[in-house]
Amino acid sequence: MTKAHPKKFHIKSFGCQMNVYDGERMSELLVDQGMSPAAPDEDADMVVLNTCHIREKAVDKVYSDIGRLRRKDGTSPMIAVAGCVAQAEGKEISRRAPSVDIVVGPQAYHRLPELMETAKAGKKALDTDMPAASKFDILPSRGKQARPNAFLTVQEGCDKFCTYCVVPYTRGAEISRPWADLVDEARALVDGGACEITLLGQNVNAWSGEDDKGRMQGLDGLIRALDKIPDVKRIRYMTSHPNDMTEGLIAAHGEVDKLMPFLHLPVQSGSDRILKAMNRSHSAQSYLDILEKMRAVRPDVALSGDFIVGFPGESDQDFEETLQIVREANYSQAFSFKYSPRPGTPAAVMEEQIAPEVMNERLQRLQALLNEQQYAFNRQTVGRTTDILLERKGKLEGQLIGKTPWLQSVHIISPDLNIGDLVEVEITQAGPNSLTGQIKERMAA
Ligand code: SAM
Ligand code: SF4
Repeated sequence: MTKAHPKKFHIKSFGCQMNVYDGERMSELLVDQGMSPAAPDEDADMVVLNTCHIREKAVDKVYSDIGRLRRKDGTSPMIAVAGCVAQAEGKEISRRAPSVDIVVGPQAYHRLPELMETAKAGKKALDTDMPAASKFDILPSRGKQARPNAFLTVQEGCDKFCTYCVVPYTRGAEISRPWADLVDEARALVDGGACEITLLGQNVNAWSGEDDKGRMQGLDGLIRALDKIPDVKRIRYMTSHPNDMTEGLIAAHGEVDKLMPFLHLPVQSGSDRILKAMNRSHSAQSYLDILEKMRAVRPDVALSGDFIVGFPGESDQDFEETLQIVREANYSQAFSFKYSPRPGTPAAVMEEQIAPEVMNERLQRLQALLNEQQYAFNRQTVGRTTDILLERKGKLEGQLIGKTPWLQSVHIISPDLNIGDLVEVEITQAGPNSLTGQIKERMAA
């Protein structure tokens, strides 16, 4: 059955910030095709589910969301499944969920307009190619930004093949986007109203490329170039891999004021035995050595990380070593997950898979420790004066929520300020997950 050309679209992104970035680029592409985003309570005639394949639960969520898209009269909007589930499951998606019209992988979404034509003709459209030509050359250029804190993907894919992870299979080989394209895109983002730029990559600190004078640069060189754009006020980057944490990047933290004192550096486990089985190619000690160097140049740096509990073969002793590295490293925030076996990865077929109840108990203990550290970090900021970038409205009348340089959320009440303002506040209260602040000038009055 043929379908009408969709006019209103809705994009729902799951998972990491790179998916949020891809979702924004798809949205710009659809607007370029004459479509417009549906309001939250409006019925869209095209829905893009921009999916994540990193853990089994994320995949299950996609299928339940597809089911919920069926309207009361039995019809469905045009449904596109994009992202890593699309890449990993391909045709299988339309078999399990026949209402899906389009399946498009993370390297092929610039072809959405052609795929929509196929779907309109009543045929299933599938594109999970990893074409040699970059999607970034074809996508429309960046326009007005919805948020003051913009994402900019600088690096994609991964060659590290940690034994638990699907990313090298779903996102493909590691590529760095060219210097000139990134500087241009950063300029377009600030011209569009952003003032904070977060550089993104699965291993963002593996970025390398030639600058405008033909010299090889690492991520620190790119950060220094963005620092020179006057309207860029804050620079962040994530996610970093310990093996790509260069001396130059560490030094930049001590020298570039716009580079925020925040480091997301996952260690996954504190046990060298488990790190080896994960193919992480760093040790617990080499990770701690990086932190020591970082804190020597930027003593107030806030540390974030990722952890996996219950990797196959993880003993009580291995888990104790994870708790130990958390105590030594001291995190301001962190993400922790139960190991989820992913089809096609080496760890999925390893012996000694850990029982769910053991994983649950370990995750609870780890999260209790991480939450304690986060709350302690938040309490330390009380009484401090700092700048915050106002990013969104809060639930209360006149309430705005901004972020400190250390990526903590701060709630303020100020009907005269706007999203995108960078203001100085005094932190007056700390909760486990957020802070309360008062505008400096107003306090003095
Ligand atoms: N490249 C980054 C690194 O090496 O740290 C991380 C990228 S990955 C998209 C984000 C996080 O998901 C990982 O750091 C890891 O903690 C978690 N993760 C990946 N595969 C997982 C799995 N099979 N089970 C549970 N957590 C997983
Ligand atoms: Fe996945 Fe490891 Fe690559 Fe990170 S470094 S994306 S965890 S394979």
